[in-house]
Amino acid sequence: LSERLEQAWTKLRGQDKISESNVKDALREVRRALLEADVNLQIVKDFVAEVEQKALGAEVVQGVRPDQQFIEVVYNELVQVMGEANVPLAEAPSKPTIVLMAGLQGTGKTTASAKLALHLRKEERTTLLVATDVYRPAAIDQLVALGKQINIPVFELGTSADPVEIARQGVEKARADGFDVVIVDTAGRLQIDQEMMGELARIKETIQPHETLLVVDAMTGQEAANLTRTFHDQIGITGAILTKLDGDTRGGAALSVRRISGQPIKFVGVGEKVDALQPFYPDRMASRILGMGDVLTLVEKAREEVDMAEAEKMQEKILSAKFDFTDFLKQTRLLKNMGSLGGIMKLIPGMGKLSSEQLEQGETQLKKAEAMIGSMTVQERKDPDILSSSPSRRRRVAKGSGYGEREVSELVTNFQRMRTMMQQMGQGNFPGMGGMPGM
Ligand code: GDP
Ligand code: MG
Repeated sequence: LSERLEQAWTKLRGQDKISESNVKDALREVRRALLEADVNLQIVKDFVAEVEQKALGAEVVQGVRPDQQFIEVVYNELVQVMGEANVPLAEAPSKPTIVLMAGLQGTGKTTASAKLALHLRKEERTTLLVATDVYRPAAIDQLVALGKQINIPVFELGTSADPVEIARQGVEKARADGFDVVIVDTAGRLQIDQEMMGELARIKETIQPHETLLVVDAMTGQEAANLTRTFHDQIGITGAILTKLDGDTRGGAALSVRRISGQPIKFVGVGEKVDALQPFYPDRMASRILGMGDVLTLVEKAREEVDMAEAEKMQEKILSAKFDFTDFLKQTRLLKNMGSLGGIMKLIPGMGKLSSEQLEQGETQLKKAEAMIGSMTVQERKDPDILSSSPSRRRRVAKGSGYGEREVSELVTNFQRMRTMMQQMGQGNFPGMGGMPGM
């Protein structure tokens, strides 16, 4: 954790909630951390504004410190912007999957092509590499040498052939020979120029790739944003590979690439060797960009406290007889998130004896209850007792949920019994669980 960021958070710690004035320092440090990580300035501005809004709008959870809540907002937002989960390489419905590599010279396209072929072999997919960089004699040799090293075939037609034609024939060969994937390596320039873009566009038009990967050097820093915009506008990319992450860059380019193109970063290069390629994981990248190796632990801790605070709030409600249908639904969903009802029941001593039929019935009952509660008005959810005195209300709920009036009555009675039981449990009495729906 960077020292300044830590200091800003410590200041937040003593506050009882996040406010516009006390979050200022923390936000300034987030902004600085992102700029130090080479995230593009405009993207930093937008990001910080979003984080501020979310942090100020965050519900105050009793027992959770504002600094912990803030760190969770920042981290979640960063992960979300970068795409939450890893996105694997596309797979065409019929062989071969065609991959086009794009990017400036020296970013690592040729190396990444070989790395990717090796990675695919681990997934038991065969690859043909195609060398279209005819402008530097050494470029074709480089790919051929890499291919030899990992035993992957390389298609080439020498330096006097037309790159578009090489690409076309390479893909044809991959199709004829039954390769799973064909990776077309292309030439780059030191700077974007129209000739290079034109040629790349023609190759793309000709081979119709399933995947056009922009290879970006992580050291590019601020420029990654413009670069991505140009390639995405003129060629259209479906993803990116971020190379040279083994250097000391924090990798802010990842955020820029993702934010500008909306396309996922699929792999990262972490060294010169052919096996130095890894799938891209947004959560790890978020930690790296913020410059905090231990952010995950912090976030975990914050989450646990949020959960505990929620549970305490619920207990209080139960004891004060304020437990209503909305809480009931919350509890139901919580149980569902934790796995099937059957799985949970098995964990409760004395409950394991339930037959699978009974358990299944329990789940059906919960689903039913959810539908019926969904058809209630806010007032009815808050005060279920008004349903027991009004047949017309019960009729309306029955109609809305598609269940019978008797079932609605049963739900209300069961709920009332459960509420009583929970209150007794809260006072130390345990009168059996018979009142729970489906039991
Ligand atoms: P291309 O011009 O885009 O085809 O780039 P190359 O594949 O020829 O790579 C340019 C240089 O970057 C070579 O010296 C590679 O060894 C090096 N390189 C590529 N990827 C990485 C990486 O992930 N980490 C490091 N440290 N070097 C890399
Ligand atoms: Mg190359």
